Amino acid sequence: MNGPLSFTHQALPMRVVMGVGAVDRLADEIDRAGLARVLVLCSPGRRELAETVAARLGARVADIHPHARVHVPAATADDAVRRAAEVNADGCLAVGGGSAVGLGKIVALRQGLPAVAVPTTYAGSEMTPVWGLTDDGVKRTGRDPRVLPVSVLYDPRLTVGLPADVSAASGINAIAHAVEALYAPDTSPIVALMAEEGVRALAGALPDVVADGADLDARSRAQYGAWLCGACLGATTMSLHHKLCHALGGTLDLPHAATHTVVLPHALAYNQGAAPGAVAALGRALGGRADPATALWDLAGRLGAPRSLRELGMAYDDIDRIVGITLAAPYANPREVTADGLGRLLRAAWAGRPPTG
Ligand code: NAD
Repeated sequence: MNGPLSFTHQALPMRVVMGVGAVDRLADEIDRAGLARVLVLCSPGRRELAETVAARLGARVADIHPHARVHVPAATADDAVRRAAEVNADGCLAVGGGSAVGLGKIVALRQGLPAVAVPTTYAGSEMTPVWGLTDDGVKRTGRDPRVLPVSVLYDPRLTVGLPADVSAASGINAIAHAVEALYAPDTSPIVALMAEEGVRALAGALPDVVADGADLDARSRAQYGAWLCGACLGATTMSLHHKLCHALGGTLDLPHAATHTVVLPHALAYNQGAAPGAVAALGRALGGRADPATALWDLAGRLGAPRSLRELGMAYDDIDRIVGITLAAPYANPREVTADGLGRLLRAAWAGRPPTG
């Protein structure tokens, strides 16, 4: 630490039930939240999982609505809000990844209904008061404490079916929250502790998760890391990495977690020289590596995760457009973001070259 401390920290309400079998306590959590008729939200492919989870709730389930989609399209949001009103729901239960949780947030926002979350990926949305909504291809986000789930249950048993590639990308997506929280303008010592521990837990767990998806110990360590990284995202303002991924995802419709996986080592390399505290914390979390950006690039390689935007379907000619969009909106970043620097970063990320900053 250099010099006297100076920070502002606003703690968010947080109730977490974690462990093998945590979901068996769902009925208690729903009762504790005072809910009697929940609308269960999930992605189309997760209906069976949602039904298994909801079976624990008996008559407290108003309906199952398996229509969540990534980035919450406006029509999907309208449908869910309408369904919640039709079935007279007094709350919602999101089962799945960031898509299901994101839909629950919009129902919470528009209908004033509390949400409970059972996350089954490592995206971390359940720990943030940030909602997102996509209209005509443009994603808007906002912060509202009402969308923060009142209770979150992390049960590693529910994640054993998450394929290795989705697990790896989702886990690195979570690590990205912690990386940017470490150099955020509104970071604090407590956020830094959570970020370092979150990266340590995920970087340690992901190779084991990818080797054996049914390893409950590894799945549990990954969820622990995802929880901490999600809490970091909820507590701070994100910088270059998240803005770039937002531009890439929103404009080119690239897959969310995989885009984070490719961009993170490059965005971190870009910022490393201007963020020595973050570099030190990440170095400790990644096994004593002096260059955390390269350590994360190596980790992605070890996990068999994508390392180029080209393999995600991005055309080389789109690089200039993404540079323009990323530069258009000002945001805090430890190092000045220039068109030249951003162009270099994106060309390296597009081609799958190691990060150089
Ligand atoms: P997702 O929810 O779409 O899940 C990815 C895929 O994994 C889906 O096909 C899903 O059906 C599948 N899946 C989920 N759980 C599974 C399981 N247990 N077994 C097998 N398959 C499973 O995507 P995501 O990456 O979790 O979340 C991305 C979305 O969340 C994006 O829209 C992103 O913007 C949003 N997000 C928001 C915040 C926030 O704070 N608002 C934070 C992080 C992510």
